[in-house]
Amino acid sequence: MKIPKSHPRYLSLTAREKIAKGVEDGITSLAGLAAHGRGEAFDYLLGEKTTKPAGESIEAAAAMMLLAKSLVISVNGNTAALIPEEIAELSKIINARLEVNIFHSSKKREIKIKGHLLKHNAKEVLLPKKSAKIRFISSNRRYVNPGGILKADVVFVPLEDGDRTEALVKNRKKVIVVELNPLSRSAQKATITICDNVIRAVPLLTKTIRQYKIYSKTRLQKVIKGYNNKKILKEALKNISRNLAK
Ligand code: ATP
Ligand code: MG
Repeated sequence: MKIPKSHPRYLSLTAREKIAKGVEDGITSLAGLAAHGRGEAFDYLLGEKTTKPAGESIEAAAAMMLLAKSLVISVNGNTAALIPEEIAELSKIINARLEVNIFHSSKKREIKIKGHLLKHNAKEVLLPKKSAKIRFISSNRRYVNPGGILKADVVFVPLEDGDRTEALVKNRKKVIVVELNPLSRSAQKATITICDNVIRAVPLLTKTIRQYKIYSKTRLQKVIKGYNNKKILKEALKNISRNLAK
């Protein structure tokens, strides 16, 4: 469907088209459609813009990613359908490895996601292996790549589910999530929660990393020290109630 640029819901409608195409192409799961819908609802409540607290989370995330020893970006079917190029670009400027991880187990879909990312300029994409797994989780998502998430100290997981966020944290990893719903378990369990749409947050993160690249280690550490995820989550909820009261 061709959506005219002048349509007041242009961005939201194009995102829907991309997710629907993702399902058609075998990249996104049907359940991913429902997850997207829940995200849309929270985006609406947040005013469909990057809020001030989300901006602070993006700054802390940029600092944490620049300080990481081994950084991995975990990609699922929704992220791959919505922002393949942006994710590929981010991985290149920060020297992060890309790894596919999906909830609804399917080798075929994992390979499709990998192909889709490579087509959109990703350099290399890792897949989970049955030989490596993280602890404290029993679903298909426990399998990881031995050279990727298994040994990573920082994992960036746009659009993560709560279970795995919690498991990754218990596996002593620092976890950065992008999650529109401040009440979800992933938002509550992550080390840094960016309460924003991945479509807006990822390009902003890339931009911030570019700016911070000249910062010293001490300066980056200071950015993280000054950050409080609990406070950010509270502010996101306050933003929502303010929008509702208006
Ligand atoms: P949890 O398991 O963490 O309690 P959940 O069950 O609500 O959360 P899932 O269904 O596992 O979450 O994943 C979907 C989550 O992704 C939703 O919370 C939704 O708000 C969020 N989401 C969907 N689309 C986007 C998007 N484009 N950007 C950011 N977040 C999104
Ligand atoms: Mg969930």
